[in-house]
Parts: sequence; C-alpha cells; structure tokens
Amino acid sequence: MASRMIKHTASDLQKKRLPSDLRGLTRKILSSAHRGLSRSEFLRELSVHLLSIREWTMAGFWLREKERLYAGVGWRGETFNFEFGTVAYREGALSPAFYQAGDELELIAAFLGYGAIPVRMAAERKGALTIIRHGSGSAWSALLPLAPFGDIQGVLVLKSPVKKAFTTRSAGFFDDLASMVAMGLMSRRVQVALRERVKELTCLYGIAKIVSRHDISLPRLLRCIASLLPPAMLNPEIASARVSLDGEEFRTRTFSESPFRLRSYIDAGGERRGFVEVLYEKAPQELDEGPFLREERKLLDAVAREITLVIDRKRIEDDRSRAEVQLRHADRLATIGQLAAGVAHELNEPLGSILGFAQLAQKSRNLPQALESDMERIVNASLNAREIVRKLLFFARQMPPAKSQVSLNTIVDEGLFFCSSRCARAGIELVTELSPDLPLITADRGQIHQVIVNLAVNALQAMPGGGSLTVRTAREGEWALLAIEDTGPGIDASVLPKIFIPFFTTKDVNEGTGLGLSVVHGIITAHDGIIHVTSTPGKGTRFEVRLPLGEGRGAAQ
Ligand code: ADP
Repeated sequence: MASRMIKHTASDLQKKRLPSDLRGLTRKILSSAHRGLSRSEFLRELSVHLLSIREWTMAGFWLREKERLYAGVGWRGETFNFEFGTVAYREGALSPAFYQAGDELELIAAFLGYGAIPVRMAAERKGALTIIRHGSGSAWSALLPLAPFGDIQGVLVLKSPVKKAFTTRSAGFFDDLASMVAMGLMSRRVQVALRERVKELTCLYGIAKIVSRHDISLPRLLRCIASLLPPAMLNPEIASARVSLDGEEFRTRTFSESPFRLRSYIDAGGERRGFVEVLYEKAPQELDEGPFLREERKLLDAVAREITLVIDRKRIEDDRSRAEVQLRHADRLATIGQLAAGVAHELNEPLGSILGFAQLAQKSRNLPQALESDMERIVNASLNAREIVRKLLFFARQMPPAKSQVSLNTIVDEGLFFCSSRCARAGIELVTELSPDLPLITADRGQIHQVIVNLAVNALQAMPGGGSLTVRTAREGEWALLAIEDTGPGIDASVLPKIFIPFFTTKDVNEGTGLGLSVVHGIITAHDGIIHVTSTPGKGTRFEVRLPLGEGRGAAQ
C-alpha cells in the first residue's frame, strides 16, 4: 500500500500534553466507545463530537473491517445529518449511495488498500494529514488515515469551505486527532466484542446448567435452550429461535419465520436429527454470515453439539433404566418360579393320591348313582389341578426340554392347523409368512408347539369380532425369529409388566387361568431364548420369540 502513516499508541498520547479541546474530545469519544454502541450509532456520535470542536462542515469515516467496507458521514446543513452504510469498491472507486463529492474517493480507496494513490490529485501532505482542494477552491478536505497499530483500518475525512481550516502547520493536531479517533474505534470494537462474548458465555453457562439437571424432560430442555439463544445475539430485540428435533419444534414465544437466519444441524448417532436456528425479523446489516457474526455461528455450532451430547446421554439413561426394569422383572419371575415349583411339587403327591383313589373308587360296583357322579367330579377336578401343576412346572422350568433338531416352520404349520377352523369361525384372517431358508433349531418339539398354540389362542381371544393374525418366521443372525401379531385391542401399559406372572389374567374365570404366558416364558427361557412383547392399545399386540440357532445362548427379557 502506497501511503504514509503515523503510528500512535495510547502511551504516546499519554506522554503528550494535548490541547484542552482535544482532551475534552478524547473523554467524549472514550465514553461513547465504552457504551458499546453499534457501529453506526458510534460513528454518528463521533461526527457530532468532531463537528462540535471546529467549524468543519462534514466528518466522514471510511472503515475496513473483516474484508468489508463501511462509511458513516455526518454533515452540517440546516440541521445535523448522518448517513451510514456498507460501501462497495467497483472499477477503481468507492460507491456509497449517499456520498456525492467524488474527488477524494479515489484517494480514500487508495488509503484503504484499493489501488495506488492518484498522482494527478492536487494535494498537500504532512505527517498523517493530506489536504485536498475541491473545484476552484470552494471547499477543502482533510484526509487522515486511521491506523491504531500501524495498519490502516480506516480514513477520517473532514471538510470545510475555509482554506485555513486545514494547514500543514497544524499537522501535529490532526495526527493526534486521527490517533484518538482510531483508538476510539478500536475501543468500541473491543467493548462490543467483550459484551458479545459475555452474552455467549452467559448463554452457554445457562445451557450447561439446564443440561446438568437430570429431572428435566427433553422437550422442556430444548424449549429452555431455544429461549437462551436470542439474548446471546448481537441484535436480541429482533431475534427469535427454534430447536427442531425428530420433526418436533421448540420455539421461543416471539418466534416468526424469516429469511434472515442462522442454522446449525444436530447430528446424533450418524443421523441428521434436527437443527438449532436463530432468526432476525429483518436484516439490520450485513455481517460475516448474512446479518450474523462469525462468533454467533460458533456459538450455534456449540449449542447443536451440546444437544447431541444430551440426546446421547438421554438414550444411554433410557437404555439403562429399561435394562434395570427388565432385570427386576426377570428377578421377580425367577422368585415366583421357585415358589411355584415348590408348591407344584408339594401338591403333586397328594393330587396323585386323590386322583388314584378316586379312579379306584369309580371302579367299585354298586355305587349309588349320586356317589358315582360325585366321583366323576372329583376325578375331573383332580385332572384339572394336575394340568395346572404341569403348567406351573413348565413355568418354573422344572420340565427339562427334550431337544432335537426340528423345523420351526413345520411346528408353526402344525400349531396353526389347530387354530385355522377357529379363525374361520371368528372371521379372523390368518396370514403366515414363513422364511423358506430358516435353518433347523435345537428344541423340544412339543414345548415349542405349546408356545405357538398359547400365543395364537391369546391372539384369537383378543379378536372376538374378527381381525387379522399374522405369524412370521425369519432368520436374524444367530437367532430364529417367530413373530405372532394380532389386530386386537392391545395391552394396557399398566397390564403389560404383569402378563408373564402366573395366574395373572384379565379374562373371565372360564376363559383364562393366567398360566398361558408364564408357560411360554418358562419354555423360551429353558431354550435359552428371548421373548419380547410390544403392544399399542387400540391397534394390536406383537409377541416376538427368538430362539438360538444351533447351540446359541440367549437371555430371557
Ligand atoms: P390367560 O390367557 O389365561 O389370561 P395368559 O398368561 O396367557 O393368561 O395371559 C395373561 C394376560 O395377558 C391375559 O389375561 C391378557 O390380559 C393379556 N394378553 C395376552 N396376550 C394378549 C393379546 N394377544 N392381546 C391382548 N392381551 C393379551
């Protein structure tokens, strides 16, 4: 860059004794800078301050910040006027819409690093000061590079109709003036940056505080995060925000759609799950990313990352609590199983005697008619009780499976054969989708048959008015899957945890004993398999049984 400049530092200025009008001006500039005003408000105040110390008619600022150019020009007419805007450099010239006097524009552009200083210009120079005469001498301009650290960041232009307003003899005064203005500009920028950083840190601190609370639900947390974002923006009064996760949106109260927005995406578990977005009602000015700052982009990215961590943490917590519930459930079932086995064994003996003696007594001749039918009742009741004991032993896994290599599809076909006429009578459509390449499983044929019948009977009982029963088999890695799905009323969430407990039933006395699913559970567990149920009230229920292929091992849920 071809220009001369004078480098000033705060200590240089402190060493000097400044004239009193400059000292007063310094105080005013610094107090404006410390208020953290916006760029345009600050330049407006600066031009008011400058025009108040001398009979200048115009004070204009041309600034270069982060590859952008801004101009703020204040002038005295009937009243004080001020214009501010971004400036484009095109074909060797700067072009603010509001600035007419074009003479010095080329020189300003050259000072700012665009092109060389034009030689033809009639100018006097001393120190930082360049004086230009306009037209026939009806107006004069003083150009002062603003270079707080030696690198030119802007140009101050003062105008006057009087020639003696700017003389090379007073170059020292103008040097000091330029340094003060440069430091004022820098001080404002530091103040604003500091204020923005404090706002961002406050936002991040607020987010960290809510995120650390484990008692808060994810929707509430996301709503809180959205509400913390607008105050962290450069223009909070026109900002609103939203967090979108899995299609659900959490917005600030004053949210309104707008094209002026900044968005960071929430990617969790390798998937795009949503985004965090801040919007301005209108675009106040062009900054780094639309009307937003680079730092605001970083903040939004950090918030999106924080939300990703929260989602991961919530998922782990949910998995853990689900596993704990399952473990507790399995524990309870095991305890009930031990109890059931004990009772079943104890009852087996006396039950055997009752049945044996009753059948013996039935064979005696000349029994009175009434006694004969009583004996029959005793035998039937004992047979029923023996069936219950058998089921309890199944549940308690006291009936070891007699395993062999069997085809699950064949057992399904045989099991459903018994149900098909019942399905037809009840208007239930029976759909089977059996995988043709399912390997053989090692299982007790009779017990697996029992599983299929018990699950199918429950499904049929759940659809007295008709529906659809779908039975599928499939290979899932090292497991054979058997899924039995109905379109019945489903199972209430309060009932679901109890369905495997022996004697738990929601059916009438004649319809259910509450042992069907406990038997299924006992058999599947004895086969090292897994049984899992999902149910949507009003839609239906799906039981999934997984049995290990070959000699695999599994765990009951
Ligand atoms: P039972 O059928 O004798 O009641 P189960 O142990 O087979 O005993 O089932 C326990 C309970 O689970 C049933 O009473 C019923 O409430 C519920 N249940 C089981 N299967 C289904 C199903 N397919 N649809 C709706 N509820 C079901």
